[in-house]
Amino acid sequence: MLAAAALVAAALSLAGHAGAGDDKDKDDGPSVPKALPAGAALPEPPKLVPVRPDVYAGRVTALSRIVQCPKCSGDGVKVSRVREATGHLQKPKVREVHEECADCRGTGYSLDPDRVAPVLDSFVSLLGALPADAPGTAKQLEKARGALLRLGGTGELAERITTQDRNEVTAERAGKPGTPIAVTGIVGKPIPVAGGRVLPVQVEANSAVLLRAPVINAAPAEGKVLVGGIAAGAVANVEWQWGKVVVLDHGFIVPLTEPVNKGAADAAKSAEQGSGSRPSGSGR
Ligand SMILES: [Zn+2]
Repeated sequence: MLAAAALVAAALSLAGHAGAGDDKDKDDGPSVPKALPAGAALPEPPKLVPVRPDVYAGRVTALSRIVQCPKCSGDGVKVSRVREATGHLQKPKVREVHEECADCRGTGYSLDPDRVAPVLDSFVSLLGALPADAPGTAKQLEKARGALLRLGGTGELAERITTQDRNEVTAERAGKPGTPIAVTGIVGKPIPVAGGRVLPVQVEANSAVLLRAPVINAAPAEGKVLVGGIAAGAVANVEWQWGKVVVLDHGFIVPLTEPVNKGAADAAKSAEQGSGSRPSGSGR
């Protein structure tokens, strides 16, 4: 069954390449969809229920906060005070020691997918639901953009919180209209479609999603991304190597990058300063 499907997929892949007049990069392994086959039909965008601005703002704040490590508030550093014996009759010296936060391994990000995944889901449900011309919308979108960029900068965490959606997409179970979906993948060049463009994102070897008219578009020219939106349904009238491809609306796309270790950087800095620094004796 799988072998037969693979053969069909391979044949379609060749046909697709010939049809698109693009026969380079054939041996470069998996690629990103470059065009839609003739006759492909995109689903209608799902309708959104408008949301109250305060509810929206709350959701944006929730996403910003949930991504932060609760132990170090996102600093990536554990600060502790150490009393040092001075050997004289002076007040004991109190020194601040900066160490990498063990909970987030110095990244400043929460590494618990069970905390973050539901918040991302509920955030994605509302992302496009503020009226574009309402006062305060631009500001909220800017905040949402910041929160999403930070989430994309969590690398491994973003991969883990989207695992379930990725499994649904690759198993071709995703796409029920109105469902929020977020996955990681490789972005391709925009594909022109009737009435606009879609951004293709390869999720796995023969699996992809299409993001249409994103609310927040921070897509890099190439490479890994975190992409999300509301499922509109699957592209219809296509037989191609990508199988069932879900179209996402009211969504976002941001670069997916590995986090820097702020804790280590900070610890190194404090060690440097430590050589000639004064003890902070402000204690309590
Ligand atoms: Zn931490």
